[in-house]
Amino acid sequence: LRDSSESMLWTTNLAARMIRVGRRVLWLERYGEQSVARHTGSGAAPSRIERGISLRDVTFTYPGAKKATFQGLSIDLPAGATIAVVGENGAGKSTLVNVLTGMYDLDAGSIEIDGRPLTTLDLAQWRAASSGAFQDHARFEFTARDAIGIGDLQTEPTDAVVLAALARAAATDVLRALPDGLDTQLGPEWGGVGLSGGQWQRLAIARGMMRGRPLLQVLDEPTSALDPATEHALFDGYADAARRTRDNGGITVLVTHRFSTVSAADLVVVMADGAVAEIGTHDELMAADGTYAHLYSLQAAGYH
Ligand code: ADP
Repeated sequence: LRDSSESMLWTTNLAARMIRVGRRVLWLERYGEQSVARHTGSGAAPSRIERGISLRDVTFTYPGAKKATFQGLSIDLPAGATIAVVGENGAGKSTLVNVLTGMYDLDAGSIEIDGRPLTTLDLAQWRAASSGAFQDHARFEFTARDAIGIGDLQTEPTDAVVLAALARAAATDVLRALPDGLDTQLGPEWGGVGLSGGQWQRLAIARGMMRGRPLLQVLDEPTSALDPATEHALFDGYADAARRTRDNGGITVLVTHRFSTVSAADLVVVMADGAVAEIGTHDELMAADGTYAHLYSLQAAGYH
């Protein structure tokens, strides 16, 4: 094993340990998500969400930060809904996702799943029931199969499942460009294939699409430019993932940077400065003629 390297991979959402010998990953072990939350209960996650997920008076400060990001934040996410979360950089969109997935302990208040505080549930189970397609650029230099398949922490996924995730992430053409298909080793350092930033990003989205029946699905819309055809295919994939999640009794949170793709959501949450600036359906918010309506018309007119 002289040539082997053992390493631990971390992202916010998943951790894995692998041992490589030469170019080959010999052993890949999936761990549950890592988090800094210390309080966890033992209750099982429900199989469906019947009523919804609620933030009740949530106050939250990042460990080591001087200022609270949320101060008494309350939001109701109804069962079966697709909720679009919009807002400027730093508004609190990612933090909302972080607390919903139980990554941190709250200073005060609670997050309730059908009325049950998240702190009474087994957090590892809750996170396993959550899925996230983030636009991280983490480069998992495995074979393409492992780089995507590791998004499912529970099972050793079949090729059919990996291919379906690639399709939902509009990344099938990334695979088509690989000489050995799913067996292609990624990363020139390992004698494999180099990918562009955009290709890594789409594999990361596919990785996040690996979990079958999430109760809470987070879809983070990429900020960097994709070509229009890929962008269109990705939104179709997201819409499909949102429909499947609803049918399985889950909730989808779509973090979006463009107002133009929001109108399909059941509910829009406009965040500003760690608080809810506006909440309602697209039509309600347009009629209210406030921040959302203003930003929407600016973007519709092409001022991004
Ligand atoms: P958005 O996703 O809308 O861009 P964030 O949720 O990332 O906004 O950020 C909300 C606020 O929390 C910002 O003021 C940001 O500086 C702060 N923040 C985000 N992540 C951290 C962190 N890991 N540690 C300390 N403060 C953070």
